[in-house]
Amino acid sequence: MAPKKNAPHGCGNNHTRGGYNFKLQSKISTGKFQGQSFNIDHAYLPSPSSYYSNQFPGISTNRKMAKVLCPFHEDTRPSLSINMEEGWYKCHACNAKGGGIAKFHMTRYSLTYKQTIKELEISNAR
Ligand SMILES: [Zn+2]
Repeated sequence: MAPKKNAPHGCGNNHTRGGYNFKLQSKISTGKFQGQSFNIDHAYLPSPSSYYSNQFPGISTNRKMAKVLCPFHEDTRPSLSINMEEGWYKCHACNAKGGGIAKFHMTRYSLTYKQTIKELEISNAR
C-alpha cells in the first residue's frame, strides 16, 4: 500500500518552468524602469525650444529642426542639428548626440546629472 517513489514526470516539469518564467520577467521590467528614469525629471525642465534659444541666441525657434555651431568641436559652419520640439541633438561632424536638453547641458558643461537638473531648474524659474 506504500506509494511508489517514482514522482510523475509532469509535476517536476511544471515547477521548473514556473521558476524560469518568473526570473525572466523580473529581469525585463528592471531594464525598462532604468530606461525611463531619465524622462521623469523632464517635468521640471524648460522646454527644449526655450532652453536652446537661451544657449544659442539668434537660433530659429519657428522651425522644428534648427542648425547651430557645434559646441563639442571646433565648428566653423553649423553642423549641429537640434530638434526644437523633442530636444534631441546630433552633430554631423563630430558625431556628438543626445536625447534631450539634460544630456546636452551635462555634456557641454561637464556636469553630473544632479548638477545639470539643478541648473536647468534654476534657469527655468527665471
Ligand atoms: Zn560637433
